[in-house]
Amino acid sequence: MVRYLAKFLLLIAVFIIAYMVIKSGARRREWPKQAPGSIAEEDMVRCKVCGVHLPRSESLESRDEYFCSEEHRRIARK
Ligand SMILES: [Zn+2]
Repeated sequence: MVRYLAKFLLLIAVFIIAYMVIKSGARRREWPKQAPGSIAEEDMVRCKVCGVHLPRSESLESRDEYFCSEEHRRIARK
């Protein structure tokens, strides 16, 4: 019975280790997407008013035009 229990615990330990390895591997694969370099190359947009470059996710979009701030979007509307 003790040997059976030891085997059972070993199996659980193997599963936990395998789970952790898979999880950390998946996390590592997500990193390149969030690397600053790829954002700079793919998703940089230019403010229509002041011309500053900023990531698309941080910009304000209005009718296919991008702005760095709410203020500049208001200026462009006038
Ligand atoms: Zn601006």
